Amino acid sequence: QTILVTGANGFVASHVVRTLLAAGYNVRAAVRSTSSTERMKEIHAPYVSQLSFIIVPDMTAPGAFDEAVKRVSGIMHMASPFVLAPENNEVDLLQPAIQITLGVLASAAAAGSTVRHVVLTSSFASILDMGQGYRPGYTYNEADWNPMTYAEAAVADGPMAYCASKKLAEEAAWNFVKEKKPAFELSTICPPWIFGPTLGSLASLEHLNESTEAIYKLINAKSIPPIDFAGFADVRDVAAAHLRAYEKPEAAGKRFLVGNHFDYQTAADAIRAKLPELKDRVPEGTPGAGLKGDVYQVDGSEAAKVLGVEYTKLEDTMKDTVEGLLEAEKRL
Ligand code: NDP
Repeated sequence: QTILVTGANGFVASHVVRTLLAAGYNVRAAVRSTSSTERMKEIHAPYVSQLSFIIVPDMTAPGAFDEAVKRVSGIMHMASPFVLAPENNEVDLLQPAIQITLGVLASAAAAGSTVRHVVLTSSFASILDMGQGYRPGYTYNEADWNPMTYAEAAVADGPMAYCASKKLAEEAAWNFVKEKKPAFELSTICPPWIFGPTLGSLASLEHLNESTEAIYKLINAKSIPPIDFAGFADVRDVAAAHLRAYEKPEAAGKRFLVGNHFDYQTAADAIRAKLPELKDRVPEGTPGAGLKGDVYQVDGSEAAKVLGVEYTKLEDTMKDTVEGLLEAEKRL
């Protein structure tokens, strides 16, 4: 079976591609430019015979995926702008996120399509109501939706606009399925911050993806940063969740919050415990004060139950994330 992965060169997508290849699937990687393909071949060298590429320079163009979806049985749709400081909310975030998602689904739904299941990489951003702030005592799960509208998001700050881009794209996908009743099933994966190792080592410390950047900022910070998203998932768990959502019939038509509690104090405690050589570099804050319950909680139990996700402990994820950053510091 061949699975199409859009945005296959990204941080999270690399792990999804690897998980699919290791499970024996063929992967058709849709990327924007040929510059991504050589690096991907290196990263996935042991499986290169199962990997093929399709270059889609403008993923927002009508029919952009018509060629890419041919003869694939599944799609992992991951290409989406992830920037927290956009210049223009609509142009940089909202329009591409929505248009690319609808374009992928339209191509997959076209007559004669072989696609039977689409897994959309959404986000906890699509669940979280940022307007409620820390919301102590509240627990978010799959039933919650970020209430932001397109009009509000167009003029919101960068992080809120990013969150809205994920919500509006996911909502558009569910509406598409409801209205067009295509032959394929849809599942969505909604992780908060995704941390963990970068496959194939980091190419640069200047252009880290947003979540790896958040941890690099933490280890270089003077004090513990305030909570932005109070949840995380290990990138390898997120990749496993995508594969299982595709394979398990029970996952059809469902969205999954994949994640556990996160705050920077607890992360700093974990890094200092696992990597003692960083104890004078990572801010100390008030060790142990992170889990005080003064922020909402995230409930990732449905993904554990239906998808069999076994959550990696924060301290292990932090160790692997930070070791990759330290290795890159030495090498680059
Ligand atoms: P990366 O920045 O590493 O990868 C993003 C991918 O999307 C790249 O392939 C990129 O292509 C592509 N992309 C970005 N903008 C566009 C665009 N306008 N048109 C077409 N392709 C585009 O991000 P992550 O791996 O961190 O994120 C991957 C997915 O996971 C995204 O959908 C993101 O929203 C979601 N997610 C990420 C989380 C995290 O903490 N990292 C948390 C929750 C969800 P190119 O390389 O050519 O720019």
